[in-house]
Amino acid sequence: MPLDIVTIPCLSDNYAYLVNGPDGTLLIDAPEAAPIAAELDSRVWNLSAILLTHHHHDHVGGVEELRAQCGCKVMGPAAEQEKLPPLDRALAEGDGGGSGDGAWTVLSVPGHTLGHIAFHFPAARAVFSADSLMALGCGRVFEGTPAMMWDTMRTFLALPDDTRVYSGHEYTAANARFALTVEPDNGALQERARRIEAGRARGEPTVPSTIAEEKATNPFMRAHLQTLKARLDMASTPDADVFAEIRKRKDAF
Ligand code: ZN
Ligand code: FE
Repeated sequence: MPLDIVTIPCLSDNYAYLVNGPDGTLLIDAPEAAPIAAELDSRVWNLSAILLTHHHHDHVGGVEELRAQCGCKVMGPAAEQEKLPPLDRALAEGDGGGSGDGAWTVLSVPGHTLGHIAFHFPAARAVFSADSLMALGCGRVFEGTPAMMWDTMRTFLALPDDTRVYSGHEYTAANARFALTVEPDNGALQERARRIEAGRARGEPTVPSTIAEEKATNPFMRAHLQTLKARLDMASTPDADVFAEIRKRKDAF
């Protein structure tokens, strides 16, 4: 039974995801309760658990209302437990659950926050990355270091190319404008930027992308490549420092 994944726009530019599979319905992040509760109602799905990626309010603000309504379990990163709503299960790298296409494991993807985790569904070829890897970008490095976030990008680089990437925000159009300043001659990026603009004009979400697309076009996933380094006059600079330079430019963009 393939997974049914529903993208739910929340707040001004967040995404939550319902994942319905053999073991019931999971919610990845809970920015606010109302749109999620409405989606559950319309599909007659019972929420079994909420999986949280990190402690920021725009990812957890709806937890208590949904827990009260659905009686679901709440799971999230053990490393951020004291900053999260009470957890029924605290998660660390390698933990997981589910079965068949619904099998998932926890990836540790720090940088945006120190305890940020992602949920990888290897059989379903999907990863929920929230504010770590984002479509054509990555989250701001608030708590960790650029080197830590570069390690996180390498974690995603190691996933199969056809893995779909479900990130936490609709920032892709702005990310595309920035990416083009780093690699104006990247043909795959030019093409993706055109697709993003057309899609956004029709009001479509830009998620999910794929690991293959991110490898070809996301500058933060390309800091190790000689073509990109040469473009930045950083041909002999270590990968993590090239990543840090791109992140610095994006913060000022
Ligand atoms: Zn965040
Ligand atoms: Fe966020």
